[in-house]
Amino acid sequence: MTNLSFKKINIEAYEPGKSTIKKLKKVIKLSANESALGVSLKAKKVISKKNTNFFRYPDGTSRKLRDQISKKFKCDIDKIICGAGSDEIIQMLCQLFLKPNDEVIVPQYSFLMYRIYSKIVGAKVVFSKEKNFKISISEILKKVTKKTKIVFIANPNNPTGTYLNKSELMQLRKKLRKNILLVVDDAYFEYMKNRDYKSGLDLFGNKKNVFILRTFSKIYGLASLRIGWGYGPRKIVDALNLIKPPFNVNEVAQLAAVESLKDTKFVSQSVKHNLLYASKIKKFLNQYNIYSNEISANFLLLDFSNCKFKAKNFYEKLKAKGIILRSTEYGYKIKNRLRLTIGSRNDNLKFMRSVERIFGK
Ligand SMILES: *Cc1c(COP(=O)(O)O)cnc(C)c1O
Repeated sequence: MTNLSFKKINIEAYEPGKSTIKKLKKVIKLSANESALGVSLKAKKVISKKNTNFFRYPDGTSRKLRDQISKKFKCDIDKIICGAGSDEIIQMLCQLFLKPNDEVIVPQYSFLMYRIYSKIVGAKVVFSKEKNFKISISEILKKVTKKTKIVFIANPNNPTGTYLNKSELMQLRKKLRKNILLVVDDAYFEYMKNRDYKSGLDLFGNKKNVFILRTFSKIYGLASLRIGWGYGPRKIVDALNLIKPPFNVNEVAQLAAVESLKDTKFVSQSVKHNLLYASKIKKFLNQYNIYSNEISANFLLLDFSNCKFKAKNFYEKLKAKGIILRSTEYGYKIKNRLRLTIGSRNDNLKFMRSVERIFGK
């Protein structure tokens, strides 16, 4: 008998938004905040291009993509690092910054990958309370100790849909000890038309102690290709490049991302579509006493506390009709709520029709 030993890590595995229902071939998936309009035509074109050299390794530095990003967002190409999803950048940041017993602060209901990657490298995850499902700066500050190394926030936050406005975000950085890295995850910034909002990149692009995360998985519709990027001080990016897997981003993803950045029409259409249907659906659900956060990104967190159905019940009823929402109970530990992604026109109309039936209209 061989007894192989390995680390026992105390984490709950990440459970993605479900995409299938037993016995049903066609489902409407409104559980993972994916693009409502699919992939941009420009990106589609390069993806289907026949002469892509799959037998070659991709460019490990994602040079052309970083070049396009730096032009598009007017930022420094040497401060950009690309990853297999922004997920991989979170993982690399944790590997680079955290030793066992170091502390990381994450808001109570924040994106799950921050706590998962932190724990994997042995760090202690400290949760800061939220107020009305919104990140609280004072609660974060209360949790700071000598051991705090990183504070992670997504702005707007998934799954709550709430956000810190420009001055709140600046206040957080100002009050946080200088040698604590603030990671600002801009995953949904493109959707944000709220006047008091500013992206992490716009606010902190030149800061020495802020790292920004961006993704192609949401508005750009490239979730399956796994591509995202990070932006931060040259020193950190250089160090991350040392630990980065050499060919982490595949060539198709790099090409598609470049094209999708050029397709500004696709992005503006997506934003318009999102605002239209988010407000339609929000109002529609209010009739049934299902309330939600103010519109921000491409999802709504639905509150069932005044509704005649419990969230779980509603989830099952929709599922029976082939529609999947995201339960927030497992992982996020938010009771009696569901996260709804704004889908395509068709998906949204089918969702609303199904809700009418569930309530017996
Ligand atoms: C969806 C999401 C991401 C994106 O992850 P990828 O690995 O780039 O697909 C990152 N952060 C938040 C808060 C998200 O909701």
